[in-house]
Amino acid sequence: MKYLLIFGLTIAVIWLWQGKRRSALTEKTRQQKSKAQGRPRQLPTTEIVACDVCAVHLPRTEALTNGRGVYCSEAHRRQAEG
Ligand SMILES: [Zn+2]
Repeated sequence: MKYLLIFGLTIAVIWLWQGKRRSALTEKTRQQKSKAQGRPRQLPTTEIVACDVCAVHLPRTEALTNGRGVYCSEAHRRQAEG
């Protein structure tokens, strides 16, 4: 009877240890997955463009754009387009 109890305890300990190890492994892979998926979200969402006249870099949202070019200011747009 005593051996049966020890055997049962050993099985329980092994089962718990393996369960803990498995959950640790899945946690690790989940973290790696989320890290891989999180990378594109960390990229800047604002595209940087260069003025066609003075080559100054500015966000596309602040640039003056038309069909022909990208400009930093109204003056450079007029200068480029004549
Ligand atoms: Zn410019």
